[in-house]
Amino acid sequence: MAIQARPAPPTGAEAAGWARPTSHVEMLWFLSELEARTDRMVTRSIGRTEEGREIVAVFMGDPVLADSTGLSRSEKPTLLVTGTIHGNEPAGKEGALQLIRELVLESDPGLLARINVIVVPSMNPDGAEAGTRENARGYDLNRDWITAETAEVGAVLERLVTRYWPDVFLDVHNGGALPYHLTYQTTLEPGADPDLVALARGPIFEFLEERLTSREMRMFWYSGPAFDERRGVWYWRTTEPLPRKQHSYAALQDMIALLFEIPEGHPPQLAAEAARESMLGLLEFLARKGPEVRSAVVEARRRTLHSPPTQVHLALQPTPYRETEQFFVQPRPENGESRASSLVEGENRTRFVPTTSRSAPWGYAFDPGLQELARLLRRHGIEVERLHDATTVPVERYRLDRVIRSPERYQRHRMTELRVEVEAGIETLAPGSFLVRVGQRGARLIPQLLEPEAVDSAARWNFLDSHLPEPGVAGSHLPLYRLNANPGVPTSLLP
Ligand SMILES: [Zn+2]
Repeated sequence: MAIQARPAPPTGAEAAGWARPTSHVEMLWFLSELEARTDRMVTRSIGRTEEGREIVAVFMGDPVLADSTGLSRSEKPTLLVTGTIHGNEPAGKEGALQLIRELVLESDPGLLARINVIVVPSMNPDGAEAGTRENARGYDLNRDWITAETAEVGAVLERLVTRYWPDVFLDVHNGGALPYHLTYQTTLEPGADPDLVALARGPIFEFLEERLTSREMRMFWYSGPAFDERRGVWYWRTTEPLPRKQHSYAALQDMIALLFEIPEGHPPQLAAEAARESMLGLLEFLARKGPEVRSAVVEARRRTLHSPPTQVHLALQPTPYRETEQFFVQPRPENGESRASSLVEGENRTRFVPTTSRSAPWGYAFDPGLQELARLLRRHGIEVERLHDATTVPVERYRLDRVIRSPERYQRHRMTELRVEVEAGIETLAPGSFLVRVGQRGARLIPQLLEPEAVDSAARWNFLDSHLPEPGVAGSHLPLYRLNANPGVPTSLLP
């Protein structure tokens, strides 16, 4: 065994006595110091931020696998962790740096023999330097998973998510409610694979809760308590699932989607400790249950491919779970003094059920002019074909009744809401039209992008704006069609 000639390096925050978070330069120094002491990690630059800072991914394993062939052939589960996607939420980055050090220098070496780990300690280095939630161009990166317009999300999407397709994707934030140390969420998408959701809501939650309890830390669901004035009862609330957010997006790509939120109000050292302990707990779970986790993910992906969901959910509503739960309510600190918490019982309203759905088609076709839309689908790893010849086929058209443009800017967009009616018809698709079959890897995501009224559809994010016909005019319909059967004509795959 090698003798540690040099002591383990401190993070910037540790060196500063937790007076401030680790700076970007300190993080790069820290990672290179660690890499020089171990063969269990490889640090790679996966891109540059808007202001030119390096976005780094740390690959860990024993042996360390840092290429897509090695990772896709590995029988061990692969975990992707992103920290500090919101620049003013340091716990993810600080906890991740401590975790990396522990994994490569100190911890049970058997852990990295059983899992592959990819960590992006800081997904938003520009925001972290400036102390802002958003990146340097004002984007909330955790609302950019559908359009992937930012350098930061684009890098993680293309260089890690679609390339390695990890089994588990965890995003670590500061948020949630005291007195908890970890507030936890898996996806709330009703369109997610139910077995992957059950794994995250059951065994993973229970394992983490037990581990944190043994370290005198508390864990509950994200996000916090609220009082229902009308009914005079406490309940536990959460935030809306949207495909533009990591925990929805990851699930629509058939990964086990996890969100860790370390509540604000803990001292920074304790917040980092809570993040590190929670991440290490997840790693231990995955190391122990590797074969079960792998087979759950492989089975989910097989189901998606061979029997994709029959319904596309277009609108959701929060609904309580049947069982009530006990949880702590702690008022906000007053004059810097923390206040006592009390245990109450209430509904857990962290479940969303669909209120509007539509059947999923065999596939979609769209006009050759919608090249940006084809490029968007390709960035998400979705296969897109082009028709060689003009093809006359039965379709379902979207008759356009109304266009509502948002008066406000959001993520540099004015979102477009389309009111449409689906009508059966016969259409001649021009040569070069794009064809997207749903029965492929992205079967859960494709309808969310292509059904015009879906909450994060390409139409809503303006991809159809310059191709819209006059609404309400007889016969005006979108240049996008639903196909209920394979047209069975020659096509070629887009590269
Ligand atoms: Zn956040």
